[in-house]
Amino acid sequence: MATATESRRGARTSFQTQLLIDGKWRDAVSGKTFATYNPATEELIANVAEGDAADIDLAVKAARKAFDSGPWRKTDARDRGRMMYKLADLIEENLEELAQLETLDNGKPISESRNADLPLVVDCFRYYAGWADKIHGHTVPIRGNFFCYTKREPVGVAGQIIPWNFPMLMVAWKWGPALAAGCTVVLKPAEQTPLSALRLGELALEAGFPAGVINIVPGFGETAGDALVKHKGVDKIAFTGEGKTAELIMRNSSDTLKRITFELGGKSPNIIFADADLDAALEGAVLGLYLNQGQCCCAGSRLFVQDTVYDKFVDRLGAKVSERKLGDPFDPGTEMGPQVDKAQYEKILSYIDKGKQQGARVVTGGGPVGGKGFFIKPTVFADVRDDMAIACDEIFGPVLSVIKFKDVDEVIHRANTTDYGLAAAVWTRDIGKAHAIADRVRAGTVWVNCYDVFDAAAPFGGFKRSGIGRELGEKGLDNYTENKTVTIALD
Ligand code: ADP
Repeated sequence: MATATESRRGARTSFQTQLLIDGKWRDAVSGKTFATYNPATEELIANVAEGDAADIDLAVKAARKAFDSGPWRKTDARDRGRMMYKLADLIEENLEELAQLETLDNGKPISESRNADLPLVVDCFRYYAGWADKIHGHTVPIRGNFFCYTKREPVGVAGQIIPWNFPMLMVAWKWGPALAAGCTVVLKPAEQTPLSALRLGELALEAGFPAGVINIVPGFGETAGDALVKHKGVDKIAFTGEGKTAELIMRNSSDTLKRITFELGGKSPNIIFADADLDAALEGAVLGLYLNQGQCCCAGSRLFVQDTVYDKFVDRLGAKVSERKLGDPFDPGTEMGPQVDKAQYEKILSYIDKGKQQGARVVTGGGPVGGKGFFIKPTVFADVRDDMAIACDEIFGPVLSVIKFKDVDEVIHRANTTDYGLAAAVWTRDIGKAHAIADRVRAGTVWVNCYDVFDAAAPFGGFKRSGIGRELGEKGLDNYTENKTVTIALD
């Protein structure tokens, strides 16, 4: 294992920094490395092997071999499941170390890494381990003297490109269904947060996955990511990230007509009616936006509050948000850490400036913390109009836009006036209103009197510009299976 000096805290002082290709750890063909930083201190954590087209080619060939002629094809589905259970057990045994690694590289509070990200990772692998031997076809009653049945076969080599906001959880969402279905994978982690995926690679080898089944190539999007998208040996691309990148990926994968699934951004409406349990709604508004420093694709960043309770609710929200404990992500009491990097930090601050320029009212926050690290004060804007930049664009930071509305039809229309459609929430004691929102808001997930409730069994994904396909649940397996119809003449 390559070593690097840890910049701050955490259980480990050395990190896996090489590429995983064909069951072996190796340097990039070019010999290049790139730096990954601690966003809380801006200090170097480690230099990581920088994969590009040459490494992607080796990884795809290894994945191809493991799929086409290697042991994976012949491994019983139940044994695939057992390896996945074993991986989940190993993650659980190393939970504290992995949580610290995630917090170090991403900056998220240790309480979230420990109590949210890691348990969801373990659960996802166990959930899909259970599916491995339950992926059935059907018998089909067709006309004539034939026996017709369908099978679900693995799609082949899956190229998986993930973002930095939930680095390990995104690995679990990608590997879980792919491995259960019998695919082999080439993973390209985000350049900001490569370390936890590499550690999961070590645990996957320990769990017994054969060489070539899991390959990991850290590197940049325009080089490693692009090569994966264009490679002829890849059957399918699963991507989570920005819509603009997805457009490029769709274009670049069209020559090879790859199967693609996308989980993209959002500007999700969180709708609070006057008749709601307003204490619970307040908690939900704060969790819905500020979890993970606002770096969630499903963040409830448009908070619609009914006019009769608007002013009071905004006051309470401002007070609650201003009390959020921001600081050292390794402090167990910290509720907010830094943004992931300088680019995100500057983008968010520019949106805060735009909000002020366009006439929204800063209730709390409204700027950087200052000093080392990419910390931004949790910010609430009130008196936000639908046409302001902070109400239209995905900011991916701790900036909440609070918007006033009058009635059900109006709020549904306004909630839907967006190119996105990932998630929505409604807070009300009136079941009719709850159903109206659940029925008519065009979003892949609707939460009623709750927010950010995730479960490996519940499908997740977007309408419109928020994505193509669904991850998690039984639906998530569709992304990694091909249907085959077999028809046999009986005489
Ligand atoms: P974010 O703003 O969250 O970083 P991106 O869409 O830029 O969102 O990045 C998500 C993932 O997509 C990262 O792993 C990144 O390296 C990768 N990526 C970026 N550009 C490309 C590209 N042109 N082709 C393939 N992958 C890319």
